[in-house]
Amino acid sequence: MEYMKLCSCNSGEKVVYQCNKQECPNFTKQKLYCLRCMNETMHNHLASVIAIQSQNTSDDWNALRRNAKTLFDNIKMFNLFHKPLLDILDGKVTNLEQKFQTKLEESLNLYQKIEAFYKEKVHNLVVRGDILALQALNQNFQSFKLKMQGLEFLIKIGPAAIWKLYSGIINDVPTHQILESFSSQSCEVFLFLKSFKLCVAILQITKAISVAGNEPPQEILEHSNLMDLNCALQKYITDAVQEQELSNSQIAKIDHIRSELGHIYTNIMFLRLKEENKAQSVKLKELEGRFAQFELNKSNSAQY
Ligand SMILES: [Zn+2]
Ligand SMILES: [Zn+2]
Repeated sequence: MEYMKLCSCNSGEKVVYQCNKQECPNFTKQKLYCLRCMNETMHNHLASVIAIQSQNTSDDWNALRRNAKTLFDNIKMFNLFHKPLLDILDGKVTNLEQKFQTKLEESLNLYQKIEAFYKEKVHNLVVRGDILALQALNQNFQSFKLKMQGLEFLIKIGPAAIWKLYSGIINDVPTHQILESFSSQSCEVFLFLKSFKLCVAILQITKAISVAGNEPPQEILEHSNLMDLNCALQKYITDAVQEQELSNSQIAKIDHIRSELGHIYTNIMFLRLKEENKAQSVKLKELEGRFAQFELNKSNSAQY
């Protein structure tokens, strides 16, 4: 570290260590010290190396910057793909804090603030290895980190993440409204949310909800395939019916959910068919194009 200051002991040596021991007699007098001052009379304790400390601090800042960027990038990308759906869902949410659009703004804001702060205050200190000044910024670091933690559930963006925003309103949006007008990918996201809601309903009816705390179990939230999720929920019902004596009203409710799951199953099939048709028509267009080109080449070569 060529920028290091000379030690206060006048030995002409640069400081290498930091005194982190409060009980040390030189804790306040000589916070940073050189190799020669690392002795029994000056600092009779294990030394912490400045270069390593400042490397660690710099690594922490860089990890925070990376996370903030990934968070914003992921949310932005998801918004790009699903904006019409997200707008509909946001429209049903009354608490501004719970809206996706708010989270998007918050994540951009946080990312920009961290970058600006890093460039203005942290970067130079890292380059100079100014460990004391770097450590003085720890409170800023912690407050950024706290804000980051509040948004971090969205870093792995997908149905399970936005479920946290929309679990209360998902039943206020009719499925046909989504299926009729949105992309297949957005429809899938929506059907995931509907399925999570049905899962909670199953658990509530079969009284297993106390275990799950009004949330679908992690294994359900982790499904990445909608069809598999549908099968898993069907199995929840089968198991519940086999394992416990259900009252007539419970059975009626379970039957209702079973038919809802059936609707979702049909919707998934419909989406797949739509996608297959789309792929086929793309292929057909391509073939038509090639055929036209072939005909053109044939007539061109016939001229000579
Ligand atoms: Zn010294
Ligand atoms: Zn000391």
